[in-house]
Amino acid sequence: MPQLSPKAAAAWLAELAASFMKSPENDLHMPEGHEPAFGLPLVGFAAGDDPLWDAYKEHVGPFHWTPMEAFALRYPQEKGGEISSSELVVMSWILPQTEATRRDHVKEKEMPAHRWARARIFGEEFVNNGLRKYILSALEAKGIQAAAPMLLKEWTRMPSEKYVIASTWSERHAAHAAGLGTFGLCDGLITPVGKAMRTGSVIVRLPVAINKRPYANHREYCLYFSSGSCGVCIQRCPAGALSFKGHDKIACRDYLQNITAPYVTSTWHFKGYGCGLCQVGVPCEKGIPKAKIRSRRGQEVRTARCCP
Ligand code: SF4
Ligand code: SF4
Repeated sequence: MPQLSPKAAAAWLAELAASFMKSPENDLHMPEGHEPAFGLPLVGFAAGDDPLWDAYKEHVGPFHWTPMEAFALRYPQEKGGEISSSELVVMSWILPQTEATRRDHVKEKEMPAHRWARARIFGEEFVNNGLRKYILSALEAKGIQAAAPMLLKEWTRMPSEKYVIASTWSERHAAHAAGLGTFGLCDGLITPVGKAMRTGSVIVRLPVAINKRPYANHREYCLYFSSGSCGVCIQRCPAGALSFKGHDKIACRDYLQNITAPYVTSTWHFKGYGCGLCQVGVPCEKGIPKAKIRSRRGQEVRTARCCP
């Protein structure tokens, strides 16, 4: 492969992701026939030696991998110090839920819409995982080393002092590092295409142009954290798992396991679960929400992003 500039490498990788998502592989597996599971991807890149990865060890837990640690699991021979974390780049993507899926899901109050449940199970298994595998094979075909942390057999969930449950690699944290979004009150990642999305990543050993994060803190896009307003996601949660104190992960998990999983199986006859009611019907559903600025007479005079 001819040597690409970092900028050209970023464009090539983004185009690979887009071409996969335009292919028939992007399929919701509806009984009626083909329908895209997700919209076109938003792609970002984070440096393998970004200090944020070490910060995640404190913030998420010491078990959360740095890109180097995940890469070394895929290529144990590289562990001996021949490769530096500065040679690695994390390619992250956001796969927005389609308008059809969001439109159905927003009508629901307690259970996932059919399309949403399919996007959660088949979209993750065939499309998000398919994209991970597609990027890996395209890179490996050109002799470029790459690893998808979520596809490593070592990936697992762990008990976390701060978050109750966390994992050895968080796709949302990778996307945040790559400049693709900030966390909302419900823990979902608010991105330029909204919070109703799936996200994935691959670690690449290639010089790629890095995205400068367009935010100053990890809560910046959420209206509650930036201006004390909103909290609409709290009202959308049927499990009482959301409050102004944040996300009760145990209550959320119990609702998914005990309520939505049996519902999906008995209603549509596939093994699955999913809720995500807090991801639609909210100001951050399909974009970065704007704060309404009102005049003294109570008239809305303009809208603006809450934080510079
Ligand atoms: S619905 Fe409002 S409070 Fe909840 S995450 Fe979105 S912006 Fe934040
Ligand atoms: S996924 Fe469902 S149960 Fe969990 S916080 Fe969101 S709305 Fe509540």
